[in-house]
Amino acid sequence: MKELSTKLLVIGGGPGGYVAAIRAGQLGIPTVLVEGERLGGTCLTIGCIPSKALIHAAEVFEQARQHATGSPLGIRAGEPTLDLAQTVRWKDGIVQRLTGGVGGLLRKAGVQVLQGWAQIEDGKTVTVRGADGQAAQRVRCEHLLLATGSEPVALPSMPFGGAIWSSTDALSPDVLPRRLVVVGAGYIGLELGIAYRKLGVEVTVVEAAQRVLPSYDEELTQPVLESLKKSGVVLHLGCSVLGWDEQHGVHVRNARADEFALPADRVLVAVGRRPRTTGFGLESLQLDMTGRHVVIDAHCRTSMRGVWAIGDVTGEPMLAHRAMAQGECVAEQIAGHNRRFEPMAIPAVCFTDPEVVVVGKTPAEARAAGLECIDAAFPFAANGRAMTLEATGGFVRVVARKDNHLILGWQAVGRGVAELAAAFGQSIEMGARLEDVAHTIHAHPTLGEAVQEAALRALGQALHI
Ligand SMILES: Cc1cc2nc3c(=O)[nH]c(=O)nc-3n(C[C@H](O)[C@H](O)[C@H](O)COP(=O)(O)OP(=O)(O)OC[C@H]3O[C@@H](n4cnc5c(N)ncnc54)[C@H](O)[C@@H]3O)c2cc1C
Repeated sequence: MKELSTKLLVIGGGPGGYVAAIRAGQLGIPTVLVEGERLGGTCLTIGCIPSKALIHAAEVFEQARQHATGSPLGIRAGEPTLDLAQTVRWKDGIVQRLTGGVGGLLRKAGVQVLQGWAQIEDGKTVTVRGADGQAAQRVRCEHLLLATGSEPVALPSMPFGGAIWSSTDALSPDVLPRRLVVVGAGYIGLELGIAYRKLGVEVTVVEAAQRVLPSYDEELTQPVLESLKKSGVVLHLGCSVLGWDEQHGVHVRNARADEFALPADRVLVAVGRRPRTTGFGLESLQLDMTGRHVVIDAHCRTSMRGVWAIGDVTGEPMLAHRAMAQGECVAEQIAGHNRRFEPMAIPAVCFTDPEVVVVGKTPAEARAAGLECIDAAFPFAANGRAMTLEATGGFVRVVARKDNHLILGWQAVGRGVAELAAAFGQSIEMGARLEDVAHTIHAHPTLGEAVQEAALRALGQALHI
């Protein structure tokens, strides 16, 4: 077996692992990255990017259909058709470009990439197996970085395969089902469910909680609920799924214990993801764990010296930008920089229709933390740009301390609000006060004016409402 020594060995080439490796390479740290599947990980290959590509294609298709049935904008078009194979090829092309780009960036940074599955022997030694299962290389390192990500959780009564889809299957359909049942109304289930509805599929969502997007506050998710109903997505909330058979479809039990079946050609199970911590020797390290995720401190150190962990393998929030930020932070510490991973806020975005953004504390969270706060919302119905975009639903809300007006959180729901996440995050990280945002000139006409107006309103100085 070939032997190799390096300072940093990264297991996993997702956004956490590849960013750590690029930054380490830039800092002159000899770095090896091991990836069993494709560079880019879940995010680039079966997560963020392909899902947003499909959501965009579905949106454009639906707009074309609306124009065919009499558009208020005066656009007249014929009934559109969908070449699904071409849609999937287009999406795959974007994935290809991005994963290729990551390979190029790693090369440029001098990182050695090993294609294969890492098996941990101890905290400083890993063997790498190729697709044939043969161990081809042993790598010794000073620092081991675990960035192995996460995998979808299956329901025991409905294992993935055939008609039972994971999110990965739903991103590369060969045909569109006539009836799709989505199990789970979290962001992944709803993003994909809404996209399929826009592509013309009959979509039914089953959720155990009484609300869609149950981890978000209710006022914020109300516009999403209304839009789901308007678009014809059928919701069964407070219901649990018992199983599936080809003849009757998905067996469901509601809160009153009544049982019924929902006919379905395909079932998308999107009930969550779990950290990938088994099957590659991680157990042998005897790291501190909470449930299924690796415990880390504010430096992304595990309980074992020289072993670091980042991204989904370390638990919630399982988001690509958190993984990337942690990756950069670890690389800099290995290079001797004094860094900690202690963000003021990690933005969370749902690319539903309308989109939802949460950064920092909601009013309820601020109050629960014992803070006296003020909050104010500005509706897009009073925003000129939103009108020109036919997107007047939703609002921007700000939460700030009552005593000194320090901004604690932002929430927004509406079309295109994902792009406001940058402004929200910056204001919180920079310790902005309501006055800072209220007195910053925001370009007109933009959705961003609603951000300024929310701050003005919290100060009792709103101009346009
Ligand atoms: C459908 C979907 C949509 C999503 N949308 C968003 C979004 O819009 N925004 C957002 O922020 N997040 C989104 N996410 C979550 C995001 O994809 C993850 O948070 C992110 O990819 C985590 O990065 P990571 O580096 O921790 O792990 P991953 O991206 O999962 O990468 C881990 C990599 O490690 C490799 N690996 C694992 N074990 C080994 C081993 N033993 N040897 C070698 N290689 C190994 C895997 O093959 C994988 O490539 C989405 C996820 C899904 C499924």
